[in-house]
Amino acid sequence: MAVPQNKVTRSRRNMRRAHDALEAGNPAECPNCGELKRPHHVCPSCGHYNDQEIVAQADEIDIDEDA
Ligand SMILES: [Zn+2]
Repeated sequence: MAVPQNKVTRSRRNMRRAHDALEAGNPAECPNCGELKRPHHVCPSCGHYNDQEIVAQADEIDIDEDA
């Protein structure tokens, strides 16, 4: 098994990990509902993309449709 030749100090280890944090990527405001959404993706809160409703939201569906 390969063994590190030198001890990595707390300082050097932490300097390496300084860049490891996850970052939220460029959120954009939805033009329909104003929620933040990922660019070039359907809005998760209203289901709109490019000023059209693409995905119907559960709270907008009329349950008594065929009653
Ligand atoms: Zn939206």
